[in-house]
Amino acid sequence: MKILVLGAGGFIGCHLTHRLLQERHAVTAVDLDMDKIADSLNDPNLSFLQQDIRSAEWDLDKRVQDADLVIDLIAYANPGLYLIMPLEVFRLNFTENLKIAEACVRHGKRLIQFSTCEVYGRTAASLKNANLADPEDPIHATFSEDTSEFILGPVSKHRWIYSCAKQLLERVLHAYGLEMGFNYTIVRPFNFIGPKIDFLLHEKQGIPRVFSFFMDALLNGTQMKLVDGGTNRRCYTYIEDGIECTNRIVENPGGVCDRQILNIGSPQNEISICRMAELMREIFAEKFRDLAVRLPDIVSVTGEEFYGKGYDDSNRRIPDIAKVRTLLNWEPRTGIREILETTMRYYVSEYRRNGGSRVPATA
Ligand code: UDP
Repeated sequence: MKILVLGAGGFIGCHLTHRLLQERHAVTAVDLDMDKIADSLNDPNLSFLQQDIRSAEWDLDKRVQDADLVIDLIAYANPGLYLIMPLEVFRLNFTENLKIAEACVRHGKRLIQFSTCEVYGRTAASLKNANLADPEDPIHATFSEDTSEFILGPVSKHRWIYSCAKQLLERVLHAYGLEMGFNYTIVRPFNFIGPKIDFLLHEKQGIPRVFSFFMDALLNGTQMKLVDGGTNRRCYTYIEDGIECTNRIVENPGGVCDRQILNIGSPQNEISICRMAELMREIFAEKFRDLAVRLPDIVSVTGEEFYGKGYDDSNRRIPDIAKVRTLLNWEPRTGIREILETTMRYYVSEYRRNGGSRVPATA
């Protein structure tokens, strides 16, 4: 197949492009950045365009016309950015993505649109007057594609602009499906993690996700900071498991993914951010002891101190993966400890390769 991958230089995009090339597809990959995709650039089946899709010379229609399938991963998807540039988060994640979807509608192309588990927002158990008999029951935090309600915070908590932009995009794709027979699949990834997830602090501009903050602290002996005590929980999904599922969506046997919204995630990997900090510290001490001058302290900071005004958070989110199990016979394979160890090993080896020297504890 001829596949147009938009956002191929990001975390999910680079792993997906690698896999699509292994599957012998002809890939046109588009991104602003090529660092993460560097090891695929020599593949004869890859054509890479270093391109900002917001620029005037970007010929969206031609690229979409040339493809059999379009996969759109273009997004600002790091929570730190929702706080400091909410307007650009809205413009890229909604306005620019809508143009891509509408080009697919015009040219009758199938679109795989990456969305987010952030659309689900908070859990019912987090509401003040929830009065649930057992608020800890995972049933209250398990989100299903076609039945769960979305619970977002007030407008003044502008973290939710990302969730809301993605939700609106999903609703528009659904409407194009209803009114014009548009063929899309929406993917909601639940915290994919693995090598290349983010650049560490100071390496590149941008605000990474929690794994990279913690990894940076371990390598540099600085504090691991728990936002509001680190009580929020996430279900981490190993990138290779996520890519395996995405590849099955690309193959779309018998059209089972047509006009479907699909969660991809690992419900068994739920962990609080606090426990994740401890586990990463344990793994670092056990496996990378030669780098450990002194293990970092784990401290608590408020959300506002860490992110600034407008911070709010999704407290807990567990994917219901019955749909991908049934439609695609997919099952996540990798447990949380293995995920963290493999990802940490990647960052440690990059750190060594770059001749990094760790700040001694006494400095
Ligand atoms: N977080 C933290 N310390 C950090 C960075 C993030 O405690 O150094 C928390 C953050 O408040 C959130 C969770 O970790 O509750 C996951 O945040 P992340 O940025 O990885 O992305 P999210 O899962 O919210 O999309």
